[in-house]
Amino acid sequence: MSTECDVKKLVRSPSGLRMLPENRAFTSPFCLEEPHWVPDRECPRCMHCEAKFDFINRKHHCRRCGKCFCDKCCSKKVPLPRMCFVDPVRQCGECSVISQKEMEFYDRQLKVLMDGATFSVTQGSCEKSETMVCRLSNNHRYLFLDGESHYELEVAQISTVQILTEGFTPGGGNSRATGMLLQYKAPGSDYLKQMKFTTSDDFNSNKKMSASWLAAMHKAAKLLYESREQ
Ligand SMILES: [Zn+2]
Ligand SMILES: [Zn+2]
Repeated sequence: MSTECDVKKLVRSPSGLRMLPENRAFTSPFCLEEPHWVPDRECPRCMHCEAKFDFINRKHHCRRCGKCFCDKCCSKKVPLPRMCFVDPVRQCGECSVISQKEMEFYDRQLKVLMDGATFSVTQGSCEKSETMVCRLSNNHRYLFLDGESHYELEVAQISTVQILTEGFTPGGGNSRATGMLLQYKAPGSDYLKQMKFTTSDDFNSNKKMSASWLAAMHKAAKLLYESREQ
C-alpha cells in the first residue's frame, strides 16, 4: 500500500503538460484538481478589468481558477506544482500571488517534512511515550514513524493538526513550536485517534530541526484543508 516506487506519466492537458502518478490513488494529498474553464460564450469581457474581447483583445483562461481574462490581466506564467504542471503556466493576478506563496512550501518545507525530525510520541491517553523519527513519505501520502515500533499514518486520514507552542503572546509574538496534536481516522474504524508529538530532550534529537518540522507541518495542514474544501 505505501509503496514508494510510484510510477509517473506525462499527460497533456489543454492547460499544459502534467506529470501524474499512473495510479490515481497515489496522487499527492497536496494536489488540486484542474478547474473547469468558464465557457467562452459566458465571458464576453475580461473578468478583472472588464475589457471587451474581440479578435485583437483575445481571452485567456487562468490555469488555476479557470476564469477568463485579457492578456494584460493574465500574463504571468507561474509554477503550479499543486496541479502537477511541469512548466510554469498562465495565471491571473490573484492566483499567481497564491501560487508564488505556495512555492515556498514546495521549495523548502516539503523537503523538511521528508527529511524528518525526532519527537517524543504518545498515543491517545497512553502515559508512555516513545522517541520516534517522523517523516513524510516521498509520495507525500504517509507519515512514517520509526522508533522501536513503526507506524504509517495516511495523510488523507488526518483530520486535525494542532500545533502546540510555548512563549505564546496574544498578538502572535515570539512563539516557538514545541509539539503537535494529530487526530486521524484509523483504518477500519470510525473513531478518531489522537497522537501527541513533543520535541524531546533526547540526546539524538535536534530541537531546532523538530521545530522547523512542526512549522512545515503547520503549513502543510493549511494546504490540506484548503484542498478538502474544494
Ligand atoms: Zn483584463
Ligand atoms: Zn486565476
